Amino acid sequence: ATPAATMVGTSIGAQHGVLFEGGDVLERVRDTDAVVFDKTGTLTRGEMTLTDAVPVSPAADGAVSADEAEGTEAAEEADLADEGVAGDATERLLAAAATAENGSEHPIAEAVVAGARERGVEPGDLDVLQNVSGKGIRARTEHGTVVVGKPELLREEDVDPEPALETMRELESEGKTAMLVGADGELLGVLAVADEVRESAVAAVEALRDRGIVVHMITGDNERTARAVAERVGIDPERVRAGVLPEDKADAVEAIQADGSRAMMVGDGVNDAPALASAFVGVAIGSGTDVAIEAADVTLMRSDPADVVKAINVSEGTLAKVK
Ligand code: ADP
Ligand code: MG
Repeated sequence: ATPAATMVGTSIGAQHGVLFEGGDVLERVRDTDAVVFDKTGTLTRGEMTLTDAVPVSPAADGAVSADEAEGTEAAEEADLADEGVAGDATERLLAAAATAENGSEHPIAEAVVAGARERGVEPGDLDVLQNVSGKGIRARTEHGTVVVGKPELLREEDVDPEPALETMRELESEGKTAMLVGADGELLGVLAVADEVRESAVAAVEALRDRGIVVHMITGDNERTARAVAERVGIDPERVRAGVLPEDKADAVEAIQADGSRAMMVGDGVNDAPALASAFVGVAIGSGTDVAIEAADVTLMRSDPADVVKAINVSEGTLAKVK
């Protein structure tokens, strides 16, 4: 672009809360033919709420849902849990998880701690906390050695996740992120958190697809949750890469670009920074982390995925008009 075009494009962008940084960024944005969205915090708000706390019933073979267990202790407990009152098993589940998560800064952790408090359960004493990247946490607490996260993490701690897997799958197909909780080799139950899809994400995906841009999603979250969210925002399930570990996000972007696609990666997290740098164009959500913003070529100050379309329009418009 001529210095004039760069100046005009940058200034029009800024008026719309779209910050372009770097020399040929307008051309790269214009020439983008694929957009890769991170899920959590980008397509969704990244503000999670604890929605479910389902203890595994030791009496039953498998986790018990409220309908199956009508009239039983587990059903009563599920009803109470719905009313925000934790029964014994639910309380134990929440106390162990909240105590372990109280040391983590992950949005899931904050949701678990806040959700437990809302149900009258306070986190207890935490000794040592270990983050297991992309899988969950392991902690030494007054409730024993507690693990919260994916089934494979529980298996690593010799906790059999099997009795809770069906409940977990049900919650995931609702688009929630479900985590298993174990303590000292015993499975305690399942927790689920939900995150709202950003309102404008649906229109943004549609507008991009109308332009012939291929829209992808990358997430560390599991396949089922990822697909449920993709369906909500109109992303083709075949374009979803789930279960991607933080250190593998950049490789996932490179895999998408392997056919010569010029991909714009849109993300918010510390995790996303290498992927933003690998992409043809990196776009950071303004409400995201400083690390992501520093790695990006474009920042969306309003944290609105629809501003991706605005960025493309501004770059096309100014490059066509201002020579
Ligand atoms: P994303 O790519 O969606 O931002 P992360 O890589 O941070 O996700 O986490 C991926 C998955 O790892 C989560 O969906 C969850 O299953 C598990 N996980 C990560 N951190 C925690 C935590 N503090 N507690 C429980 N589970 C966690
Ligand atoms: Mg994110």
